[in-house]
Amino acid sequence: MTFAAQFLKQARVMTADLRHRQIIRTALRNYEIVRDQRKAAFQSWESARQAAAETKWEAVNHLDKYLEQFVAKLEARGTKVHWASTGAQASEIILQIVREKKARSVIKSKAMTSEEVHLNDALEKAGLEVVESDLGEFIMQLRHETPYHIVFPSMHLTRGEIRELFQKELGDAPSDNPEDLTLVARRVLRKKYVQADLGITGANFAIAETGMVSITENEGNARLTAALPKTMITLLGIEKVLPRLEDLALFLPMLATVGAAQLISGYNTLYSGPRQPGETDGPEEWHVVLLDNRRTALLADAEQRDALHCIRCGSCLNVCPIYRNVGGHTYGTTYCGPIGAVITPHLRGLRDWKHLAYASTLCGACAEACPVKIDLHHRLLQTRRNSVQAKPRWWEKLAFKGFAVIANRRPLWRYLITQGGRLGQRFHPLVKGTRLDPAYAWTKTRELPPIAPQSFKEWWRNRS
Ligand code: SF4
Repeated sequence: MTFAAQFLKQARVMTADLRHRQIIRTALRNYEIVRDQRKAAFQSWESARQAAAETKWEAVNHLDKYLEQFVAKLEARGTKVHWASTGAQASEIILQIVREKKARSVIKSKAMTSEEVHLNDALEKAGLEVVESDLGEFIMQLRHETPYHIVFPSMHLTRGEIRELFQKELGDAPSDNPEDLTLVARRVLRKKYVQADLGITGANFAIAETGMVSITENEGNARLTAALPKTMITLLGIEKVLPRLEDLALFLPMLATVGAAQLISGYNTLYSGPRQPGETDGPEEWHVVLLDNRRTALLADAEQRDALHCIRCGSCLNVCPIYRNVGGHTYGTTYCGPIGAVITPHLRGLRDWKHLAYASTLCGACAEACPVKIDLHHRLLQTRRNSVQAKPRWWEKLAFKGFAVIANRRPLWRYLITQGGRLGQRFHPLVKGTRLDPAYAWTKTRELPPIAPQSFKEWWRNRS
């Protein structure tokens, strides 16, 4: 089955699942209220968005310069930097470090890039025990599922479902109280931090000016992942670069506001290198893996390049009417929602993933919600155009040509569409919802709005 057919099949199931839709709606209702309160803490949210968009524009349009600066600063303090052109190469680099260190267990904090390159599969195939330390990711790992959302990996689950899962997999779940459940996960994870030979993290931002990696989180798990194992590996996409340290003064509160409806995340840490002489903590060895995986191909596309400005806040998913109804897993790819629909055809190929650009109402809510002002719905339109240009469909061309002939001739439109439609709708109930219905694709799940008995023009003419 193609990815497009799989998407359609799954979307049909999910949109009919009213319980799922209710869970998502409830989860996002509180988020929306608090997020708007947090936005009000900015003197001008719109000015902040503009400043963030300009900063990311500067970073992405001078990526070569800022990456070189970032790497030079990192290496000067003893960090080992690796470049990975593809996902497979990134996994291979990490496996090589694992072999060198003779590691047997790995603790990980949240990293969408690791999902992108299927790192867990590669590590597990090599015989390693891999444990996700972010609570949401830990839950998804116990369920053998991929994250449902960029920021809230297990938002589609109820407390009761998590309790059942813990009972089954960990043999411990005193109640469905979130605090009790967190304590159960904490007891399991604390041991894993101490036992792990390697810690793997992602990164939220890479600061070119100082050669630092910024990780922002709410559970302290990324700090433990970086602090306890002797070797730390950070896997990040090359687009994570920000030019200056002071840029974080805007990006950290902005990400917390739209990402999790917070003023600032609970833990914000900057890593600048492995443990230096005289320092009491930190990893003995730090490897940074910079991942391309077709990001440079996207960079070469001047029209859609701004998709690399994304800070993975998840805000466009939260407001997207399609995401809210079909859910994260339906997309079948690491990055879901509007930003996923924009970047996946670039990262994984237009031919197989162009259908995601059609999973949009083009309402523009995503572009309005995006803190770095990515023009998401226009990017989706461009992808539709590109996919048609890459493989034009003769019947679609013919249909639009026919439509243009009718729409450009007033008498034809009036008699064929308006009068004909009114006549047709009288007989429509006889075939409605059956295969004989010419509007079956619409009427099998929706009502066809009736054509008004009188057009505006007719009404205007008759009133005088
Ligand atoms: S595209 Fe914008 S709103 Fe969507 S995840 Fe990225 S930064 Fe957030």
